[in-house]
Amino acid sequence: MKAKAAARQVRWLQDRCDIYGRVLLRDDYTCQLCGTRCNLEIHHVRFRSSGGKDSQENLITLCHGCHCDLHSGRIELSPLTATGGA
Ligand SMILES: [Zn+2]
Ligand SMILES: [Zn+2]
Repeated sequence: MKAKAAARQVRWLQDRCDIYGRVLLRDDYTCQLCGTRCNLEIHHVRFRSSGGKDSQENLITLCHGCHCDLHSGRIELSPLTATGGA
């Protein structure tokens, strides 16, 4: 039982890392708000609690600073992709 659950967890992590890797690649390993390449994290554009999915379309690359600002409401998400690039 326990081993099975652990295996499932590993599988889940692998799938997740795979998607995260593709998101990073798509965003060119660059924060989509400020353009830095340091301390990158993945943000869910739509929270999973409001129906967002673990799909590439719902994920965006942000740096730690922008990610924190976004979650605390100091900045809003207006990604470069939405305006076609600045
Ligand atoms: Zn940033
Ligand atoms: Zn986030």
